Amino acid sequence: MIKPFTPELIYIEPRALEYEQGRMLYDKFKDTDVEIRETTSHNQVRGLPGENDFQKYRVAKNTLVIGVRKTLKFDTSKPSAEYAIPLATGCMGHCHYCYLQTTLGSKPYIRTYVNLEEIFDQAHSYIKERGTELTRFEAACTSDIVGMDHLTHSLKQAINYMGEQENGRLRFVTKFHFVDHLLDAEHNGHTRFRFSINADYVIKYFEPGTSPLDKRLEAAKKVAEAGYPLGFIVAPIYVHEGWEQGYYHMFEKLYDQLKDVNYDEEDLTFELIQHRFTKPAKRVIEKNYPKTKLEMNEEERKYKWGRYGIGKYVYETDVQERLKETISAYAKEFFPASTISYFT
Ligand code: SF4
Repeated sequence: MIKPFTPELIYIEPRALEYEQGRMLYDKFKDTDVEIRETTSHNQVRGLPGENDFQKYRVAKNTLVIGVRKTLKFDTSKPSAEYAIPLATGCMGHCHYCYLQTTLGSKPYIRTYVNLEEIFDQAHSYIKERGTELTRFEAACTSDIVGMDHLTHSLKQAINYMGEQENGRLRFVTKFHFVDHLLDAEHNGHTRFRFSINADYVIKYFEPGTSPLDKRLEAAKKVAEAGYPLGFIVAPIYVHEGWEQGYYHMFEKLYDQLKDVNYDEEDLTFELIQHRFTKPAKRVIEKNYPKTKLEMNEEERKYKWGRYGIGKYVYETDVQERLKETISAYAKEFFPASTISYFT
């Protein structure tokens, strides 16, 4: 059974203690066995234990860095939201395919930001800028925020905050089931709670350190009962022996969990994302997870030109079509009123 994340090592910026959230986190750990070190900047954590990159990477994934978010300009987060709201960076999960391995590079440690009021004020000015149009914020662009929120409750505060914003909406996705503290948040229907789900094979071989499917689905049921708008991201959709049955079985289990829940199926969304990789990502994956079974054979894929000149390898067109049709048909079979937001 996967346990909620507890860091093995903590770094804190002294400035973080000027904030209530920083003091709360410091107090939580100061009398425990977890070592707390100071760092001048959450962007430059030095001296992580480990004799080589492989060990350091694993230590970093268990290290929590408590800092002040200085850059308050939010990144955009198209197409599912207007902005990424920066509550945290990094993740304790070990998904082999995770893009954070390349985007975070040498800084895979987990950063949580304590200046929440400043972050919410910034969100508020973005909402105001767009007038009466809804402004959506994605909270899981650079982390799996649910995986650490039992410690920080910063996501919960963001949910409560967005619940009060007439034109603000929040969304995030998770592979963790530690949702109990979020069930009584005052979301006011303004937060879409999404779970990342997959066939058993993919979870078993490529998603170590995350919650098993059954746990995610039980959590989804609780979230639906708590009245949150609900969604699922099926990603990465990955071709493997018996994938049709694997994904069908996943939908069967999902249906079983939700069938007795009184929720709005018309508001249920599915986002479908096929497996892809870039050449730089492949190199990093092979370094961090040298024994991975993840298939990344360029010859069997289609090259798709991307931004910044880094293209990605997706499935061949005919395979893509089959994936899209098959998974969409399953979603519609079990949840006919739901929406398939996109396949990419
Ligand atoms: Fe990456 Fe999400 Fe897996 Fe964390 S849970 S390692 S963010 S894919």
